[in-house]
Amino acid sequence: MRLIFKTMDLNQIWQSTLAELELQISRPNFLTWLKKSRLVKKEEDGRIVVGLVNNFAKEWVENKYHKMILETLHSLDETIKKVEYTVLVEQQSPQIKLESKTILNRQTTLPELKVDPETNLHPRYTLNSFVVGSSNELAYAATQSVIKDVGKKYNPLFIYGGTGLGKTHLIQAAGNEIKNLYKNKIKVKYVSSEKFVNDVVWAIRNKRMDDVKSKYRNVDVLIIDDIQFVGGKERSEEEFFHTFNVLYENNKQIIISSDRPPAAIPTLEERLRSRFEGGMIADITYPDYEMRMAIIKTKLQEKNADLPEEICGLVANKIQRNIREIEGILNKIIFYREVKNIELTTKVIEEIIDNIIQQSSKNITASQIIKAVADFYEITLPELTNRSRKKSVVEPRQVVAFLLRDLLDMSYPDIGEKLGKRDHTTAIYSCGKISREISKNQSLNQKIILIKEVIHKG
Ligand code: ADP
Ligand code: MG
Repeated sequence: MRLIFKTMDLNQIWQSTLAELELQISRPNFLTWLKKSRLVKKEEDGRIVVGLVNNFAKEWVENKYHKMILETLHSLDETIKKVEYTVLVEQQSPQIKLESKTILNRQTTLPELKVDPETNLHPRYTLNSFVVGSSNELAYAATQSVIKDVGKKYNPLFIYGGTGLGKTHLIQAAGNEIKNLYKNKIKVKYVSSEKFVNDVVWAIRNKRMDDVKSKYRNVDVLIIDDIQFVGGKERSEEEFFHTFNVLYENNKQIIISSDRPPAAIPTLEERLRSRFEGGMIADITYPDYEMRMAIIKTKLQEKNADLPEEICGLVANKIQRNIREIEGILNKIIFYREVKNIELTTKVIEEIIDNIIQQSSKNITASQIIKAVADFYEITLPELTNRSRKKSVVEPRQVVAFLLRDLLDMSYPDIGEKLGKRDHTTAIYSCGKISREISKNQSLNQKIILIKEVIHKG
């Protein structure tokens, strides 16, 4: 055996290794991390150097497949004793090279962005990065008045609009702005209404209502996101109403977002509704073409990336009703170019866009998500849901929670249930953890894009 393989050149050895690995690794993983790899050299001492397309691939392959690779190589050529990994120097057009450089810069220079545990605000949401146009100028102007005149002018400020149109961005930006402007003099707190409901449910169960009361009544600015979720949950609504009154009577500012106007939340109690209607109500509607282009440019700048004008135009043309989708598409386009090194023709871009549009209208099930994650991380379904705290299963489990939430809008108690009868607080923690992480951890972001791709292909 050995004699035969000894005559194999490096390329042949690697091709045989890849053929072997392909059988053992899930397809998307193989295509993304290994397909464009090659053997760079073999040293006298039996060391082999494997070249991978980029840093993400290097990190991933080193962590996940090292043992498999070493064993396979060794079985093909006994003299191979050790495997090391390196990033291949790309031989592409100058433009792509430039982009790869900016990715590196970005990773080393971006300050870490974290949710502030005191306020729950994410620093990435700023007024500066919020593009203003006819669809949101009223909401924006009202927000500015509130920032200038906290608690005095428009109280509550109620902002409503469809999903992905910038409500969370705007109300968080208001919080950040107030926090920075008034330093520690004004205490701000942001909470999603689901978190609020969960806090109330927890407090009732544990007889700790006073904790919740002091947590929310002790602030100068309370920002509550997606209030429509509070409607109909009696105890939470009651508690919110009291909190609201206490704050309101003390001239504290309340900022609320919702996916519809107060009058259209059927389960909202009348007294709460009329309170909301007593303040300032502003809507956010769909952005027009110019505004969509401006948003695309802003997002690209934030990502330190650049795309040709025609591509921006194509995206702006196709996606008209959801800014979150625009962002998703940009992420994917950049990912295709920088990680997969795919040339961006109009056809490719259209495919990416159509794919995303289709995805948002396709029925996905929880078990599809769980299976895709398990396959991707190459762990078994029981491993995903058992009690183990091993690092290798913690991330996949959190990713499942995040995706159940992101793709299915599943409630936290249901997510907990799916993760092996875990508490809803674990689900909340997991979702929060991943959604914070992906904004600063490129490699995790890539993994999630890949997993979603598998899920959507069904
Ligand atoms: P909503 O809360 O209304 O569902 P988000 O505030 O989460 O929407 O917005 C979705 C994404 O679109 C976010 O990444 C946000 O930064 C971005 N976005 C929305 N509106 C704007 C805008 N006017 N300018 C810049 N980015 C925006
Ligand atoms: Mg939102």
